[in-house]
Amino acid sequence: MPLPLTAPRRPCYPSRVSTARRTHGFRESVIRGMSRLAREHRSINLAQGFPNFAAPALLKEAAARAIRDDINQYAITWGAGALREAIARKYERWYGLRADPEREITVTCGATEAMISSLLALVNPGDEVIVFEPFYENYGPDTILADARPVYVPLEPGEPLDLERLAAAFSPRTRAIIVNTPSNPSGRVLTRAELGAIAELCIRYDALAVTDEIYEHIRFEGEHVPIATLPGMRERTVTISGASKTFSVTGWRIGWIVAPAALTDAIRKVHDFLTVGAPAPLQEAIAVGLDELDASFYAGLTAMYLGKRDLLHAALLDAGFRCRAPEGAYYILADFTALAAAAGGAARDDTAFAEWLSREVGVTPVPGSSFYREGGGRSMVRFVFCKTEDILSEAARRLRGLRDVAARTEPREGRPALESGLQR
Ligand code: GLN
Repeated sequence: MPLPLTAPRRPCYPSRVSTARRTHGFRESVIRGMSRLAREHRSINLAQGFPNFAAPALLKEAAARAIRDDINQYAITWGAGALREAIARKYERWYGLRADPEREITVTCGATEAMISSLLALVNPGDEVIVFEPFYENYGPDTILADARPVYVPLEPGEPLDLERLAAAFSPRTRAIIVNTPSNPSGRVLTRAELGAIAELCIRYDALAVTDEIYEHIRFEGEHVPIATLPGMRERTVTISGASKTFSVTGWRIGWIVAPAALTDAIRKVHDFLTVGAPAPLQEAIAVGLDELDASFYAGLTAMYLGKRDLLHAALLDAGFRCRAPEGAYYILADFTALAAAAGGAARDDTAFAEWLSREVGVTPVPGSSFYREGGGRSMVRFVFCKTEDILSEAARRLRGLRDVAARTEPREGRPALESGLQR
């Protein structure tokens, strides 16, 4: 039956076909966006932190074997038994940290899921969460999704942690502090003394430490100290790490959480309803990697990344950037102020500069503002060095020509296409 002519065509109330307010406080990831831009410009992607080289053969074989052996259905939601046991052995072997695989270890879809599941499980709306700045982009949206209020404390490349500012950031409203060491993007490896100061404040204010130790094995200076190993911290620390960076398998999405049983119970509930679990055959493969790759693998990883760090650091200094060599992780945060003459109008801010560098020079970084609160990081960009030497050397060559780039507008097709599959 036809509608009466008077029937409204559209509802007169605001449309329900709209987005939830909880998504309005943050934007899409700039890091992932710059990866797409690099592909569009056929530019070297030094934006998103993923290696362009092979994962260890042992892991690939183990994953293929697991799939052939039909480990293709859900693992136990909090992680395959073999992997949780291998994680427990790893923490005991490396750090003397004992964890019960049945009650204190949860396997997640990357450290990314580990962080958001932990915050959703442990932080109440309105609680304050202390975050070091510059920070890894995800922590902003993570705290917003958990309805928490981030409180920032500076942690700049090469600078010691300002303990007075740290102490001033703590209050009875502090629920947790996110401790990312080695740190992305500052490259700082927190010292035992700095971690001790954080621990003391956590204990004094009865706050939790939620860590991100994903770069624990990519370190050039200092030691890696899980804050959970400091006195009084085991019962108030959520230790997060994963396989992505250590084993060069960022696409496998295998991360994990070590936390006291009571906290783990809540985290496991959130994790289960968010993702059910991480890929089962890949969990088996990571268990093999954790058990079988020995000290020589880890020494090789450090030596390899040290060479890459030095190559990119020298290239950036040579090109006119101001930057410090990181103590750990695989990022360099670089100030481009001295390149204003070459970049012209593009030097007005970090986004314009990063896009210009991607388009005109053929090297894509991440704008620095993604790692700071509103208004920060405007004269900075971040480069990764988790790439093969041919790529880093070609990036270095392109960056070296930076000073004359403004003068010659190179046609985009004129640049040689790179062979290594970097754009994928
Ligand atoms: N951690 C990496 C970075 O900072 C990438 C992480 C991601 O894109 N999921 O670039």
